[in-house]
Amino acid sequence: MPVTMCRLTEKGRAILIIFGWRVVFFTLTRGIFHCPDCGGDRDYRRRQGRNFFTLFFIPVIPLTKAGGEFVECDTCHGRWNPGILEIPTTAQLARMPAMLLRMAIAQVLRSGDYTHVGARARAVTVVRQAGDTSYDEGALNADLGRPFDEVRAEMGRASSALAPEARESILRAAAEIALIDGPLSVSEEETLSAVGSDLGLTHVQVTGVVSLARQSSGH
Ligand SMILES: [Zn+2]
Repeated sequence: MPVTMCRLTEKGRAILIIFGWRVVFFTLTRGIFHCPDCGGDRDYRRRQGRNFFTLFFIPVIPLTKAGGEFVECDTCHGRWNPGILEIPTTAQLARMPAMLLRMAIAQVLRSGDYTHVGARARAVTVVRQAGDTSYDEGALNADLGRPFDEVRAEMGRASSALAPEARESILRAAAEIALIDGPLSVSEEETLSAVGSDLGLTHVQVTGVVSLARQSSGH
């Protein structure tokens, strides 16, 4: 609220001074998020307010921070807690099946014979078909070399955003690749169970998916 003060100068002229306080918002970062109000991917600004002492309506002296950081949609100007940025955007969701597929396949491949030419070729083809069109042998080798724990944590985070059918089909693809060089080894079976659980599938779902893959491979 502006405050008006009238004071007399030495020469006896009256000077009107208007001062007050105002919140000024600063943009900290920008990006794209999924806006719940717009229902789609939108540009956002991550912002923070600061109280300012104003003189003639102009902010001149920064004071304390006003409230916490928030995310503002550029389109609808809705404001959200920064936690909203954890929700995947539509574009990220579209890339997710291919990304999860890569991780599932890499884990299963390395529990068996990861040098098998047929299995490797199939892995590259399947990931490309899922939308990651630049995937190649080099990228596969990089995936095979990633730390196990890191991959598992990432899969757990990403898979919760996918429908159960999509998660089952990812496991199915990984199981089919493991079956290319013959029947599943104990280590391959264990890895498929672990991948299934990282994908948020139940034991019954995992067993069902793996037996379907077995039937179609003839092993
Ligand atoms: Zn919006």
